[in-house]
Amino acid sequence: MSLRVGIIGAGPSGMAQLRAFEAARAKGADMPEIVCFEKQSDWGGQWNYSWHTGIDGSGESAHSSMYRHLWSNGPKECLEFSDYTFDEHFGRPISSFPPREVLFDYIAGRVEKSDVRKYIQFNTAVRWVNYDEATEEFTLFSQDVKTGESKTHVFDKLVVSTGHFSTPNIPDFDGINTFPGEVLHAHDFRGAERFGGKRLLMIGSSYSAEDIGMQAHKMGAASITLSYRSGPMGFDWPSTTVERPLVTRFEGTTAHFADGTSGEFDAVIMCTGYLHKYPFLPSDLAVSSPNVLYPGNLYKGVVWQQNTNLFYLGAQDQYYTFNMFDAQAWFARDAMTGKIALPSAEARAADIQSWLDAQAALADHDAEADFQTDYVRDLINATDYPEFDLDAVSTLFKDWMRHKSEDILGYRDKAHRSVITGTMAEIHHTRWINAMDDSLERFLNGPSQNMDTNAMATVDANAILAKGK
Ligand code: FAD
Ligand code: NAP
Repeated sequence: MSLRVGIIGAGPSGMAQLRAFEAARAKGADMPEIVCFEKQSDWGGQWNYSWHTGIDGSGESAHSSMYRHLWSNGPKECLEFSDYTFDEHFGRPISSFPPREVLFDYIAGRVEKSDVRKYIQFNTAVRWVNYDEATEEFTLFSQDVKTGESKTHVFDKLVVSTGHFSTPNIPDFDGINTFPGEVLHAHDFRGAERFGGKRLLMIGSSYSAEDIGMQAHKMGAASITLSYRSGPMGFDWPSTTVERPLVTRFEGTTAHFADGTSGEFDAVIMCTGYLHKYPFLPSDLAVSSPNVLYPGNLYKGVVWQQNTNLFYLGAQDQYYTFNMFDAQAWFARDAMTGKIALPSAEARAADIQSWLDAQAALADHDAEADFQTDYVRDLINATDYPEFDLDAVSTLFKDWMRHKSEDILGYRDKAHRSVITGTMAEIHHTRWINAMDDSLERFLNGPSQNMDTNAMATVDANAILAKGK
């Protein structure tokens, strides 16, 4: 009987797992019996944008936290697949920070070429998984979210690739229950147009706070206040934006901060991150971790320490994304098929500990980028995933972080060179601050005469909306 492999989730990580098996098949390996379960009607995970918030059209929790006008926040050259380049997909150089739809097109393009869609059961949520120690089999219970029909499946190996940026982490604050304006989590943010002229309070000091804050600035918010717990981001913010320590309490529309200052606000957006949540797994199989570069209990960040038939992809906090998921998927594939022999439990534990120790010593963002570079290199060295210059990617990450420090509104206008093809990215036709149309068509075909200008200026969202009427 051939190996039976279950994959939960067809986002970039699940797609990488499918591609990994397909790449081996193309070289003559046997294809296992694969079923990939995806609760949404299409692949792409976070990149599969939906206007839904809370509950989606099938009564499931809405998965994607992405929003209109979301552009890549890191250079595309840092996430490029080494077996499917941007040049191959687009046939010409494109700029370094594409909007969501363009990256969706890129990741989908690779798997469309591989003919792996047939392995995916769409609109199918995984409800529960059991593991039988005696037979070494997983029993998985799935449900068609449209018809309600449930099914039982049995697998030898199970891959969990359901992401960990979908279940919001929601702290509580005194007085927030009676805040009269809108309160939402970043997971439910779909666009900043409606915040034109409003005074916004963002709680959190990481990527979501920074990017949603700057979206709101772009769309003409009156003010943006970023409230931090551990420390300020310290960027050279536009004049609309300030950073304050953590909110201590709300009183009506007033928020009080730990430094004794206060402010009046129309809306609060919690940019307080996400929880690892695996409601379909018993607790002894589920990752329980904060959002870190190396969650514990996973050998090579992939293999569950207490059950080496269980694999996780993309469970890490992410500098690297698509190409790291590939490196993990190739490793998981070879561990599943026995091509990679896993060492003893003690040796695995020691390896995990060495990464945890290195993680604990990380001093700054540059060191974090190097850490994840070393991690990806470790995986790629173990498989036939096409090698690429990872040190050059780490340098790109550091350039990118420097560009952000220099100009938080302008870093997306920079161009970077592919470490795989050597192609220099194009300077985009419209500066990010002025690009008001994030469609694939506009991205590829030039500026919109109605909306985009070349002048570096914040656009008045209300004026744009009024024009459209
Ligand atoms: P996901 O993309 O989350 O996909 C998981 C899939 O599992 C989904 O399709 C979901 O429907 C499915 N699923 C979940 N539960 C079940 C279930 N029970 N049964 C069946 N299916 C299930 N990365 C970048 O490289 N660049 C960026 O600019 C960038 N921007 C981001 C912006 C936001 C707001 C967020 C939240 C993340 C961003 N990321 C970005 C990181 C992003 O998480 C990764 O790029 C990538 O989407 C992770 O892929 P994944 O497959 O691991 O998880
Ligand atoms: P995150 O990086 O995990 O950061 C969570 C933030 O919430 C941290 O600043 C944390 O503060 C804060 N926080 C947590 N609990 C808190 C509490 N009780 N009170 C106050 N603050 C609290 O999450 P994220 O910023 O949502 O980013 C998640 C992912 O989305 C990342 O991969 C990111 O790249 C991606 N993203 C990308 C874009 C884009 O432009 N493409 C936009 C948004 C997000 P501490 O520092 O104190 O822990």
